[in-house]
Amino acid sequence: MHGLMQSNPINLVSILEHASRWHSEQEVVSNTVEGGIHRQSYAATYSRVTRLASSLARWGVEHGDRMGTLGWNTHRHLEAWYAISGQGAICHTVNPRLFSEQIVYIVNHAEDRLLFIDLSFVDLVAELMERLPTVESIVIMTDRAHMPNSSRFDCPVHCYEDLIEAGDSVFEWPDLDENTGSSLCYTSGTTGEPKGVLYSHRGNLLHAYATCGADVFDIRSTDTVLMVVPMFHANSWGLAYSAPMVGAKMVLPGPHMDGASIYFLITEERVTKAAAVPTVWNMLIAHLRESDLPLRTLQEVIIGGAAVPRSMIQEFDRKYAVEVIHAWGMTEMTPLGTINRAKPFTRSLAGDDLLDAQCKQGRVPFGVDMKIVDDDGKAQPHDGKTYGRLLVKGPWTVERYYKSDQKILDDGWFDTGDIASIDQHGYMQITDRSKDVIKSGGEWISSVDIENAAMGIPGVEIAACIGAAHPKWDERPLLLVKAGEQQRPSKKEIRQVLAESFASWQVPDDIVYVDDIPLTATGKIHKKPLRSEFRDFFLD
Ligand code: AMP
Repeated sequence: MHGLMQSNPINLVSILEHASRWHSEQEVVSNTVEGGIHRQSYAATYSRVTRLASSLARWGVEHGDRMGTLGWNTHRHLEAWYAISGQGAICHTVNPRLFSEQIVYIVNHAEDRLLFIDLSFVDLVAELMERLPTVESIVIMTDRAHMPNSSRFDCPVHCYEDLIEAGDSVFEWPDLDENTGSSLCYTSGTTGEPKGVLYSHRGNLLHAYATCGADVFDIRSTDTVLMVVPMFHANSWGLAYSAPMVGAKMVLPGPHMDGASIYFLITEERVTKAAAVPTVWNMLIAHLRESDLPLRTLQEVIIGGAAVPRSMIQEFDRKYAVEVIHAWGMTEMTPLGTINRAKPFTRSLAGDDLLDAQCKQGRVPFGVDMKIVDDDGKAQPHDGKTYGRLLVKGPWTVERYYKSDQKILDDGWFDTGDIASIDQHGYMQITDRSKDVIKSGGEWISSVDIENAAMGIPGVEIAACIGAAHPKWDERPLLLVKAGEQQRPSKKEIRQVLAESFASWQVPDDIVYVDDIPLTATGKIHKKPLRSEFRDFFLD
């Protein structure tokens, strides 16, 4: 028997429509690409989205068409994001920090018909255009006054604000099956070709409902949310949906993600909650230290994408009274998997015990299930010590990659490629990526744990630990350190500090100082080039 409740399909654009009707005056603030702060209400944002959608429909956008974007987090990018998926097309956010080869691969693989680009990427796209045969037109996300010379493109080039102006103020949003695709993000592809993850209206909606909740991102209409995490990286952690869903004020940093610009936005806009990867917070903390600045309005920072160093949790808490909420997820999970929110038992923790607990990646919200298994697929105990491959399932976890027939689920479970433990309270802790874990004499050493401990040592700006081939032990840990400008701790000092927290066989055999540590397009340590350079370090 069917329930007798209304079953109108829900289109994601209804989130913004809701914000425009019930939080109409609430602001969307952008630090623009052109320079300067732009602010507009949710009501204005939705009205512009309607106009853009009607212009796009007139241009010939059809259901299921892929529309690419190369853009920072700005009001225009947010509008394009809603206008495209609201009309049943797919908003394909391309990560502009990828290598050109990868951008070409991704745009061609998705067969993007239109590309919405920021002024920052005009040169890049003009150069790549002849290798992007599916792209019929370019939309430059700016106004008339800033339009660049379009003769470099031999296809039609539109000014974004012209499309808004030409659009109708009313648009009939289609009724979409809830499983209709909404948006497309490619995994960063540090191994093999990038893979497309096609999100759905249903998955995104459930993810947004879940992530607003008090035990997840805890977003309220009284919050001002700084969404640093880019729309092109893991779906902006769903914040582009969850913030308008509750009517929170949105603050978008545009291309300005250095410490000083982030500090400016936090203080000027009175940000209460902000979300970004650890690299961004490192830059902010360096800026705060340099100029001895306080953080008065910020209550919480949500940090994920890479493990949060213990020292960062400590510094935010002790110096700035800002709580770090550690989260884990991946592109394939829309992206939230776990979040570290308190349970009753954590209330009694203090000092190092509390920090130990906060360093874990957290527990699952309803909508995600997880387990750890050994190499034979046997489920492992939740004792906080045993680790295994981390498997997940749920309505916002990927079933299949875009345009791939390959089966990627095992009995409904998706293998995350992470190695983790789960404790008796259900808190998961990532040990490593399965490909990064160091296998020494049959034992595993977590490169992430060593990096985190090393990054807490004064003078260590960034550290990467890799397994280098060893004639006796198979692999031994090698630590690569980029030291700060003021101070460089000696190898002996680093080894001494590490020896306090690790067994002697886990301490890296050697330390190499490097000028820089490469980062991936999503701000994570890029181990592949380091492995190829230092793989034979102990053999040479
Ligand atoms: P991406 O799809 O680019 O967001 O990458 C997802 C991967 O980033 C995960 O599978 C993890 O390996 C890593 N990751 C994300 N969040 C965390 C975290 N809080 N701690 C450790 N690793 C993380």
